[in-house]
Amino acid sequence: MCAQIYKEGNRNNPYSFDDYLFVKNHFNYYTDDEFFQALVKKYTGNEFEKIDKELRALSDYVSFRFRDLADKGNELENRIKVTKIKHYDAHNHRIDRIERCAETEILEREIFSLGLFDQNRNSPWSRFTKLFLLYQNSEAGVMCPIACTHGMVWLMQQYEDVLGSESCKILEHVRDGTGEYSNGEYGRGSQFVSEIQGGSDVPSNLVEAVFEEAKGPDGISNCWRVYGQKFFCSAAHTDYAVVTAKPKGTSSSTKIAAFVVPAWLPGNKEKEIRNSYTIDRLKPKLGTAELPTAEITFNGAVAYPIGPLEKGLADIVGIVLSLSRLHIGLGMAGGALRIAREAILYSQFRKAFGIPISSFPLMINQINDLNQAAMRTASGAFKVYSEYIHFGEELIAGIRDLEKIEDITERKRRFRLRELIMLQKIVVCDEAPSLIRMAISFFGGHGIMEDFLSFPRFHRDSMIMELWEGPRNVLLTQIHRDFQRIKEWYPADDFIRDLLEGSDPDKVESYASEFLRIISHDSLLRNDEETLTICSDWQIFSNKLFQAYQELALTELDYQGKPLKFSRLLRKFKKEEKKKKQGVAKAI
Ligand SMILES: Cc1cc2nc3c(=O)[nH]c(=O)nc-3n(C[C@H](O)[C@H](O)[C@H](O)COP(=O)(O)OP(=O)(O)OC[C@H]3O[C@@H](n4cnc5c(N)ncnc54)[C@H](O)[C@@H]3O)c2cc1C
Repeated sequence: MCAQIYKEGNRNNPYSFDDYLFVKNHFNYYTDDEFFQALVKKYTGNEFEKIDKELRALSDYVSFRFRDLADKGNELENRIKVTKIKHYDAHNHRIDRIERCAETEILEREIFSLGLFDQNRNSPWSRFTKLFLLYQNSEAGVMCPIACTHGMVWLMQQYEDVLGSESCKILEHVRDGTGEYSNGEYGRGSQFVSEIQGGSDVPSNLVEAVFEEAKGPDGISNCWRVYGQKFFCSAAHTDYAVVTAKPKGTSSSTKIAAFVVPAWLPGNKEKEIRNSYTIDRLKPKLGTAELPTAEITFNGAVAYPIGPLEKGLADIVGIVLSLSRLHIGLGMAGGALRIAREAILYSQFRKAFGIPISSFPLMINQINDLNQAAMRTASGAFKVYSEYIHFGEELIAGIRDLEKIEDITERKRRFRLRELIMLQKIVVCDEAPSLIRMAISFFGGHGIMEDFLSFPRFHRDSMIMELWEGPRNVLLTQIHRDFQRIKEWYPADDFIRDLLEGSDPDKVESYASEFLRIISHDSLLRNDEETLTICSDWQIFSNKLFQAYQELALTELDYQGKPLKFSRLLRKFKKEEKKKKQGVAKAI
């Protein structure tokens, strides 16, 4: 019959993508993914039943409604909206209003309503697995503020006992969704660290905080106020920002302190009177284009210090940025499962030269590579996060604080987590754009079409993940420096033996000696032949090292499930749909 339809001269070309679309659009990210379920089962222990139930309920939204809202928010006309700002209203009031499309706003409201950081509604594992699920729709203009809010809550919680009354109300709003500042919704956060002269070099920040006794134009006295420009302010539409600034006139005036700055002072949000700052411009971006990223000038914004002024840098890097880096790692891993799934299903559906393209040996290798990379990346993300949960979701701000831990076994394990977070961030982000590019190639020319699939959006977003929260070079340098600082109590080769315990012993030993050789080179900052070679070796080795950790995580999972099969899923979803229709007919 096929030959009949496709015979030459048949002008009514019957070709259709409908079966592929049917399978893709019916696939439930959690309930239809045995691999994801196996990971949840392995790691959540006694909580599995409860979390499994919650994930099934949430996945009914994430896989369909949220997926469509995320796609809609990225359409060209919606992306453009987020680069335009309304500075003044009709009556000459400065308002700096950011307008996003309704779909992104709905998506954000619904995701924040999950109360992910609310201890009464989520445990560490339910929080993580829900985040992993949500990231299957990529950043979508929402997951950046989610990550920033996570960092803000954890930073403020660290100092909960000593927070001032305003900061307590802010914490209550963003974490619990309650209190004086809540209008029945959870507060949303952002983080403004980078300045025009450098994002990597945070100590070079110029933004200043000044303690002012006199009453300001906003009627507030005896408070810290922030002055200066921040150049990359994502999630600029949110309620609060963690802002770094140098506190003037204090013994720590050259150091970086951390502040929470409300976007509007109490009662001013409705009036659109911002907290003494202007949004100068919204940036047009390659990726995460639904997310407003602004250039902001602070002109005396009221700010509340979080933690000791001299500890701001360590807290920002050790807690806030580390959490964002964890998000990037787990987010790219969640996205990888979706990318691999949709690309592999298409390869089994699509035919060329009379056979499914998944049968060509060149494709078979690519499918295996993509599938293996997605599975090890996801397994690695669960394993890294399990270490974070092991320590009660508490991050130690810096090496100095780490060295205060007397128990050497615990100190080493905490150090491994610190390094794993950085390694995961750079390695996953290094791999993601090329994996997505390969997945796009499975679709041939259709892979480039914005309205055919979501991969162009994922690809653009993955380019951003590489850059923010610490570019690759900066983190490679940081890791190398960390090992120099702790070599007295944790030699580099021992670190490898502990990290890869359970892997092939020959491989472990060869990695241990290679890593020791790289770390034994005293600095990556000299321009000589030897350093250039070490830098190049370190770049290559960092990927091999973290991939070995991911492979170990995958082996430990011991997954025995069935591989994806397009025809099986098509039959299953058709049957389910038929049943649903029969159920409706009976009910009528
Ligand atoms: C879309 C987007 C949104 C962002 N949102 C935010 C936000 O909300 N808040 C915020 O604070 N920041 C944000 N950033 C800024 C981001 O964190 C910075 O871009 C990043 O930290 C790098 O800083 P930079 O752009 O100034 O690059 P630079 O610091 O100028 O670095 C340029 C290059 O030099 C390399 N380099 C720097 N130092 C070293 C070194 N020691 N050794 C070797 N190489 C080095 C870097 O790897 C990089 O490749 C955002 C960035 C993007 C792209």
